[in-house]
Amino acid sequence: MPLSPGQQLEYIAYLVKNCQKCPLYKSATNPVPGTGNPQAKIMFIGEAPGFYEDQQGLPFVGNSGKLLDKLLDTIQVSRSEVFIGNILKHRPPQNRDPLPEEIKVCTPYLKAQLKIIKPKVVITLGRFALDYFFPNESISRLHGQIKEIVWQDLPLTIIPVYHPSAGLRNGAMLKALQNDFLTIGRFLKN
Ligand code: SF4
Repeated sequence: MPLSPGQQLEYIAYLVKNCQKCPLYKSATNPVPGTGNPQAKIMFIGEAPGFYEDQQGLPFVGNSGKLLDKLLDTIQVSRSEVFIGNILKHRPPQNRDPLPEEIKVCTPYLKAQLKIIKPKVVITLGRFALDYFFPNESISRLHGQIKEIVWQDLPLTIIPVYHPSAGLRNGAMLKALQNDFLTIGRFLKN
């Protein structure tokens, strides 16, 4: 009998837990493979686990996660409806930026998750997630735009927004995030 999407995602989480393809597993406390509805229509993709995510093995549970929850509230979407993952599955030390070689060896897990879940809409959070779909594009130019693409034979609507951590640091980016979530809310209603 074929594995269900949930079982396939569990297998990816098992592979991530045992992964040694880059050195990040050595300094991390827990892997953070991603969590949520295996048949989510909406998938959020962030950058990498931070301190609290690393402690708990779950994505977006620190201050950025609290802001993400507030933004989800504004569009009346609950976490149980969506899947939330990251470009990297282990925390980079001191939350430094992901390195190109880490992204290269880690994103096959994200690719597998996307192919299992087959979301209709992907909200990229921050520039690293944007770069995965639109290399060399600028988040300040693309944020809040609705992009229809075919990616690996999957029709996807990509809506890039700033990373919530940027919204916590900068009032203008918070405003942009709030506005972009209004756009997302309107898009989902239609
Ligand atoms: S960050 Fe990704 S590639 Fe590196 S060890 Fe973790 S799962 Fe493997």
